[in-house]
Amino acid sequence: MNQKTRFTLTENDIPKQWYNINGDSPIPPAPVLHPVTKEPVTPEFLSVLFPMALIEQEISSDRFIDIPEEVQDVYKLYRPTPLIRAYRLEKALGTPAHIYYKYEGTSPSGSHKINTAIAQAYYNKISGIESLTTETGAGQWGSALSIACSFYDMALDVYMVKCSYQQKPYRRILMETFGANCFASPTDRTDTGRAMLAEDPDCPGSLGLAISEAVEVAAKSNGKIKYSLGSVLHHVLIHQSVIGEECLKQMDMADEYPDVVIGCVGGGSNFSGIAFPFLRENLRNGMKTRLVAVEPTAAPTLTRGLYSFDYGDTGKMAPIVKMHTLGHSFIPAPIHAGGLRYHGMAPTVSSLYDAGYIDAVALPQIRAFQAGQLFAKSEGILPAPESNHAICAAVDEALDAKEKGEKRVILFNLSGHGHFDLAAYQAYMQEDLEDFACTDEYIQSIPDRLPQIDLDKIAA
Ligand SMILES: *Cc1c(COP(=O)(O)O)cnc(C)c1O
Repeated sequence: MNQKTRFTLTENDIPKQWYNINGDSPIPPAPVLHPVTKEPVTPEFLSVLFPMALIEQEISSDRFIDIPEEVQDVYKLYRPTPLIRAYRLEKALGTPAHIYYKYEGTSPSGSHKINTAIAQAYYNKISGIESLTTETGAGQWGSALSIACSFYDMALDVYMVKCSYQQKPYRRILMETFGANCFASPTDRTDTGRAMLAEDPDCPGSLGLAISEAVEVAAKSNGKIKYSLGSVLHHVLIHQSVIGEECLKQMDMADEYPDVVIGCVGGGSNFSGIAFPFLRENLRNGMKTRLVAVEPTAAPTLTRGLYSFDYGDTGKMAPIVKMHTLGHSFIPAPIHAGGLRYHGMAPTVSSLYDAGYIDAVALPQIRAFQAGQLFAKSEGILPAPESNHAICAAVDEALDAKEKGEKRVILFNLSGHGHFDLAAYQAYMQEDLEDFACTDEYIQSIPDRLPQIDLDKIAA
């Protein structure tokens, strides 16, 4: 019997190509629409915000995309990340299931987000851009991009959702140490922010609103400043495929193959990163791995949202995409998994969920923290509150396997550590956490909140 605990690859095993599910997906991508004309966008429109190399990846149907050597060199600082068999968690649960986790918290920023931050900063830099803007929810993305920008000597302005800015002062200090500027959104620096503050001076902010502010700054910069997004867009999902590609090799080392692969979903990038290489094996090689996306009940985009065209941001400045959405005006409850509070979901994840290729569950935050604490006490790693949702689903799978007496192989993505989330753990231990759910009334109001799209016009 194989008793190895850590499955470690060498530098040579770092993937040299990213995987693009759109080369294998049976579902053609829906068009991306201009937020004002509501007609399909041109690459010229997108090029106001993004460098051409990323736009090409966004619409590419190449199955594999070469990772530039300069990006591979930076990946070497922390990749390959470990795959670990959670023997101690299995024992604590008394389950016959085998539980494996891929640990992305070993990266410099403490989560998977730096996998795309490095790539995005690199492509902007080689296209002559010296300055980026972005938003951040929990601060994970802002941290990752601030590190990447410091590597490539670029300036960075980060619009951080106000309630997270207040909950997580150390994330801001981290970003500033790497040279970024960090502002609590809504700010008085943009038209969108000022309009929001006029309406509600105490607005806690939202990811959708912070996106509008960062997009506005880039759009009004005459091409000097580009915008960078940490999730949702297809090129981000492509960059995260390094996670699953490494896992395929590591599961092979463990001489096992997962029956189920689990990831938490905010915009869908870490889930796609671990799941899409396994989905390829399902589509091409007849494997039957179940892929489970886990979202919070406070932002149940896949399980209760509508699959429809909607704006990517609150201020209606970002493109309109077809996705599972709670409506762009959705202001989520202030749960501690800030990275899971987005109103929409990556179009690629949405379409595959809609067609039945992936599953989804919504879990309340208190249960997620309970599972996270059990994991911490068993495995010695304090997970990010977002990752707790994936852990909780993995624990549920392991207990279900126990009940049925099955030897199930479970793989989940531990997307980040929780060292900057101690206030959240404190609230959990003091029993100050609350569970939130969207009301039925809110869910029924979603259609009224969506833009009217003339489907004949975009089919042409
Ligand atoms: C941002 C974040 C998430 C959610 O974002 P996705 O794009 O859905 O991956 C999950 N876990 C951690 C640790 C994060 O920082």
